[in-house]
Amino acid sequence: MDEHLDAAVTVAVALSLAGLLAASLIGSRDAVELVIALSACCAVVYVGYRVRPKARLQRAARIGLRRGEFHVVYQPIVDTRTRHCVGVEALLRWGHPKFGAGGPGLFIGALEGTRLLSALTCFVLREANNALTQLPFAQDWHISVNICAWHLLEDHFVEDICESAGPMLERLVLELTERSCVERTSRVVTALSHMRQRGVRLSLDDFGTGFSNLDLLADFRFDYVKVDRRFLAMRGEARIQFLKSVAALVHTLGAKVVVEGVERAAEHDVVQRSGIDLAQGYWYAKPMAVDQLRAFGSATASINTLQDGTGTELKA
Ligand code: C2E
Ligand code: MG
Ligand code: MG
Repeated sequence: MDEHLDAAVTVAVALSLAGLLAASLIGSRDAVELVIALSACCAVVYVGYRVRPKARLQRAARIGLRRGEFHVVYQPIVDTRTRHCVGVEALLRWGHPKFGAGGPGLFIGALEGTRLLSALTCFVLREANNALTQLPFAQDWHISVNICAWHLLEDHFVEDICESAGPMLERLVLELTERSCVERTSRVVTALSHMRQRGVRLSLDDFGTGFSNLDLLADFRFDYVKVDRRFLAMRGEARIQFLKSVAALVHTLGAKVVVEGVERAAEHDVVQRSGIDLAQGYWYAKPMAVDQLRAFGSATASINTLQDGTGTELKA
């Protein structure tokens, strides 16, 4: 927005200068005033034009939330050693009546820093709580929900999370993406310690892709660190050495390391050999609707009971 404003001001000033020059040549005061008014108009139209797509998307999302266009899908997170499901990540989807289904990549960025994204987090929490209280899940499964840094700074953050999550609170893991810059202000520390007192765990998402200062790891006590899937694309020995180093660092801090985006058996192999605790990816299971998750949960529960928790080959 600031960039747009800067550009608009530059355009307006340029137009004004050109206009003033022309007006002074004509020598009429009316002409000068007319030029200034026209320049201001141009600037307003320009700003309006630039801002429109984002504002329209925000408006559509606000209406969409009211009309029930959003829904939540769940992706299993597995123990790399046993391949048992140990939790799920709740992921937002928007089924727009005109533009069809859209992943969060299409809209989260435009909603960043708005109250609407906080409202959507509350929606995800309520949905997950409704869904998961009816599912045959093991008691120790956790439910991860992505939060935005801006929400964390709001007065009602703790209230929002507690009210929306309901009884799910003790299973809740809040995922905070490293892509947003979170500073250790007293407000953030207080909010997170309130959450921790209520049994909520904290995960650092997209590790290695954003503000990768190690301060963040040292400043906040994370229970999980999620390594972004781009590191699985590294070649040769470097990949396993990198993952081993991250695992060692994260373990030193008393947290568990999760790798995202495992798509192939060979990647699972690397992840397992690197000492990574947990993994998430299409090779284990894709994000799924609650009905599919119910079937998935029952299958897992029965396999676990049959095999008494030893080495279940779980692959959706
Ligand atoms: P994330 O939190 O890192 O979520 C993991 C993303 O990786 C998900 O994309 C998931 O579908 C995708 N993924 C999982 N396994 C694989 C795989 O094997 N291969 C590939 N190519 N992708 C895989 P999704 O659902 O599109 O979400 C993208 C991002 O949008 C999320 O990244 C998260 O940052 C954000 N997001 C999703 N839901 C919410 C939400 O409710 N609130 C907020 N604030 N952000 C959300
Ligand atoms: Mg996440
Ligand atoms: Mg991630």
